[in-house]
Amino acid sequence: MNRIGIGSRWWRSSCFSGPNTTRRLSATRTLRIPDNGLKKKKVTDGEVARLAGRPLHPLTLADLAKSGRPPLSTEQLLDSANFTLSILPSRLAHRIQSLRNLPFIVVANPNVSKIHNNYVHSLSTLLPYASKEIKTLEEEIQFTSVMADLVQTHSNTISILARGFLEARKYISPNEVTKFLDEHLRARIGTRLIAEQHIALHFSSKPHLDLSEQDSHIDSTYIGVIDTKLKPVDIIRHCEGLVGDICEFKYGVRPSVVIRGEAETTLAHIPMHLEYIITELLKNAFRATIEKGNERHPIEVTIAPTPEESKGKPDGITNYDQGSVDAASASQRPANAASANIRPLDKSTPGVTIRIRDRGGGIPPAAYAKLWEFGFTTFNEQEIVDITSGGTNDGDGLNALSNAGGAENSLAGLGYGLKLGRAYAEYFGGGIRVQSLLGWGTDVYLSLRGVGNIK
Ligand code: ADP
Ligand code: MG
Repeated sequence: MNRIGIGSRWWRSSCFSGPNTTRRLSATRTLRIPDNGLKKKKVTDGEVARLAGRPLHPLTLADLAKSGRPPLSTEQLLDSANFTLSILPSRLAHRIQSLRNLPFIVVANPNVSKIHNNYVHSLSTLLPYASKEIKTLEEEIQFTSVMADLVQTHSNTISILARGFLEARKYISPNEVTKFLDEHLRARIGTRLIAEQHIALHFSSKPHLDLSEQDSHIDSTYIGVIDTKLKPVDIIRHCEGLVGDICEFKYGVRPSVVIRGEAETTLAHIPMHLEYIITELLKNAFRATIEKGNERHPIEVTIAPTPEESKGKPDGITNYDQGSVDAASASQRPANAASANIRPLDKSTPGVTIRIRDRGGGIPPAAYAKLWEFGFTTFNEQEIVDITSGGTNDGDGLNALSNAGGAENSLAGLGYGLKLGRAYAEYFGGGIRVQSLLGWGTDVYLSLRGVGNIK
């Protein structure tokens, strides 16, 4: 038997919710994958075309939370498995098609082609289940192993794709790369989330809980990977520690963070996503501050719950000049929520805006214009080569220092951090905006919307 996924860092990370958590879900759980591997069914071109022809199911936090609070009954667990099964095959097929639509010479790149093959592999492990309903716990366990394999198979995607597009940059323009990656990586956020949600629900369901664990789940604030009482300040403090360690190790200095605003604010959101975003934003702020020699000035993080009158707007920022950067990038990004496969959230959804203010000298106009281009970085070129060839585990935000921004022990690198951070924020109706005060520092506004009224 092989054991897969669940004891790994992405799982532990998904369990992080700061010091007040009541969640005690075991970090050492494993799912057994049979020695002869998962059942597979050949993926034909016709099957890909048929599945990709199906409309995509828009995903909301409310969808993910609909199973209700743990512990789940057998029936609720089977419902979750069947819901997951009803949406994943067509999502994977869409990704396969979009990879195949890249210029041939790009798809032929070994790194890009590896990602394509990973998708084909994952679809082949889902197809044996696709035409039937999951009716027994035995089938549900096997299906959860398929989900764990899916998450594991795609854990290195960002660094592999980054390397692929770096190698193929002669054959595809930065605009085309950004357009492709924006869509691809957003879709991937949803696909992984759906798989992770089922895995998390699996372990918080009655049939799969140890008796000793059941009590702790009854008062848990979690529904699968969603923390209904997520406290951003806990994540910020945790990420400050992680990024501070990197700075201390690499540069011998440790900038600090001061928290302002309403530190007690909570919202229902996904801790591993927020952890990913904050890590990337703090890395950028810490790096700029250190490079400017300003590390004695703390990074100021202000937490502002969205006021009543702003609910329904994308964030709590008004009269904010987005400048040409967002305008330019908006034209390259999916034109509206529907094409990004996102459904706008309920208007009553409470939210929070977090401002990260650094004294790192700001962003020069030439860099500002390229800020939202995948692969744009002012980081040292040689280090980028080292990072991409190192095969770091980006984990899609699933391990804390996951690295679209660079290797785990690096402060920057691939030029993906800001863009992916924004993709995570926008996935559920939030956003990221950057305002530079040249010669002084940068303000980054991260807005998040939670999901209201979880029973
Ligand atoms: P990376 O950090 O790997 O370079 P990012 O997407 O996170 O990739 O950022 C891209 C670039 O934007 C950085 O290389 C840097 O030049 C600029 N940048 C981002 N945040 C800041 C900031 N707070 N201060 C100054 N420059 C920044
Ligand atoms: Mg970065």
